[in-house]
Amino acid sequence: MQTIAAKTILTKFSKPSDWFGLDYNMNLYRGCCHGCIYCDSRSDCYGIENFDTIRVKEDCIAMLARELKSKRQKGVVGIGAMSDPYNPFELEHEYTRKALGWIDHFRFGISIVTKSAMIARDAELFAAINQHSPVITKLTITAEDELSKLIEPNVSPSSARFEALATLAKAGIFTGVMLMPMLPFITDTYENIEQIVTRAAESGARFIYPSYGVTLRGNQRQHFYKELDAHFPRLKAQYIQRYGEAYACGTPIYKELRRLFEAKCREHGLLYDMEKIIAAYKYERELW
Ligand code: SF4
Repeated sequence: MQTIAAKTILTKFSKPSDWFGLDYNMNLYRGCCHGCIYCDSRSDCYGIENFDTIRVKEDCIAMLARELKSKRQKGVVGIGAMSDPYNPFELEHEYTRKALGWIDHFRFGISIVTKSAMIARDAELFAAINQHSPVITKLTITAEDELSKLIEPNVSPSSARFEALATLAKAGIFTGVMLMPMLPFITDTYENIEQIVTRAAESGARFIYPSYGVTLRGNQRQHFYKELDAHFPRLKAQYIQRYGEAYACGTPIYKELRRLFEAKCREHGLLYDMEKIIAAYKYERELW
């Protein structure tokens, strides 16, 4: 795996982010080989050349240890925003695992998102961090196995992700599902949403956070359309007709899906509101 130079690893937010209450953010890896057809991180605006090639930031673990040690304010560190922290190289190199070790050592919290069942490998580390700081683990799941294989070709099957979720939940970790994106005319069906909510609940999830559509722009939109042509003939024309060049491409049945989703979540006792999710994992830890 190639390395790239980096000056820093941790970025601090001036106040806890509205997005899962993060205090810090970091990416150890650059690029991602999971091949999700809708991936926003490949957009030109982020400037990640050869997005499908994974590189690791040079000296990232030692740099992280130094930066964590120097921070006067503890907080929750977010991982996984621009690159999946459990890519295939992680199995051998364990950069994410080593980073979790330092996060535990310096008594920070962690918020992590992935599409890989490999996250279950680190359940004990999350449990150790959970002894002193907030922990939230998130598995992105957007469709059942067969459909997922078309739109997220290089990630663990959704069924394996539900199993990983169950492992983390059994380890006492506050864990849940990121149901995003919802691809119009592809995954935005009542059956799909109902099935994900039910399986999440059965697996021990505490929350599901949805997005009722997908964002498309520039080169990322072109990539998405190329993949639509390969796997879903005729859908590109439908997207162009409905959304043109719009960035936010919401599902046409937003209201109905949202009603169903929220009713199902309430039925299963799953949180789905961001403020409530943040409060539950970060500020009310002693209550659950
Ligand atoms: S796992 Fe995330 S970063 Fe990687 S290709 Fe898929 S959406 Fe993009």
